[in-house]
Formats: sequence, C-alpha cells, structure tokens
Amino acid sequence: MDTLHGHLMNSGLGDPFDRHLFACAVAVGAAEFPRPLTEALGLSSVALTELSNTYFPDGWRRIAIQALGEDPGPDELEEPDLRQLLLDHRGCGAPEEEWLAAIVARRSLGANHLWQDLGLFNRDELSILMQRHFPDLKERNSGDMKWKKFFYRQLCERDGVAICKAPNCEVCDDVADCFGPED
Ligand code: SF4
Repeated sequence: MDTLHGHLMNSGLGDPFDRHLFACAVAVGAAEFPRPLTEALGLSSVALTELSNTYFPDGWRRIAIQALGEDPGPDELEEPDLRQLLLDHRGCGAPEEEWLAAIVARRSLGANHLWQDLGLFNRDELSILMQRHFPDLKERNSGDMKWKKFFYRQLCERDGVAICKAPNCEVCDDVADCFGPED
C-alpha cells in the first residue's frame, strides 16, 4: 500500500510543489489520528474542504472521516500573531497562502524543527515554501536563522521586546541555537 503522501500526490491536482506541501501537511496531521485534521492543521472545516477540493478531489476519501473534525479550538498565544505575520507578507494573495499561513502557524507549536512539524522531506523545502509564498520574510531571514526562532524574533521585534542577549550575532553565545543545523 502506498503512503498517504504518495497516494495524495499521485491522485491530486494543481502545482506539483504546492501539492507536495499540502500532501506532507495532511500526511503528518493524519498521523496524529484521532486528532482531527482541522485541529492538526489549524484550518477550519470550510478551508480544509476548499483545499481538498482544489488539490485532492479524488484522494481525499481515504482520510475523509478524520477530516470531519470540529473547527480548530482556541489559538495558542502566539499562533494568531504568527498567522497574521505570514499573511502580512504573503506573496500574491492566493488562497494557498491563507491555508499555508494557518498550517505553518499551527505546526509551529510542535516540538520539532518546523520542517519536520510540517511533514516536509528536508529543510530546503521549507525555504522554498517561504520563497514562493512569503518572499518578504524569506528575504528578511537572509542569514538563514532557524524558522521558529526567526518568527519568534519577528514578533518580539514588532512588539518592542528585546530577546537577544548580545548586540549582534557575531558576538552572541546563542548563535548555534539560532542558526545551527536542523537535521
Ligand atoms: S544569535 Fe544572539 S544576537 Fe543573534 S539572533 Fe540569536 S540571540 Fe539574537
């Protein structure tokens, strides 16, 4: 039996890379069963239905029961702020960016590196996601800071909260924490 990701990719529609992004997210969310996909991905049932109709109109039957969850519960503290940060820097206003902003913000609450929490195959795919859909943020993260750290730092900077212990990264003890490998 093929993997859920493979099944969705093979039976799906739309841009192949975006289809891959959503197939990864759905697969990693589905692995958290019985948690509803709406909750795992931070998407309302309306948004999840739109996404599935756009990318996976045939492949969706395999996970439809799990998808029929309640709409996501109350947001964690930073989640709405992060979702809005992403939306404020979306590339072109496509619905995909709304779905990805919600998914990235929800999956950022996970315990692993963000690319892993998104179910992606490697960190480079997350960089491509950001370049395609949130290019301003990708440009701002020119030093390739870990994405969860970068988002947190952006939100703190926006609110005037200083979180860095040093005046710049070159002289900071936390540099490995902010920029180290995410394997
Ligand atoms: S390395 Fe230090 S100065 Fe640079 S972003 Fe991280 S905490 Fe801030």
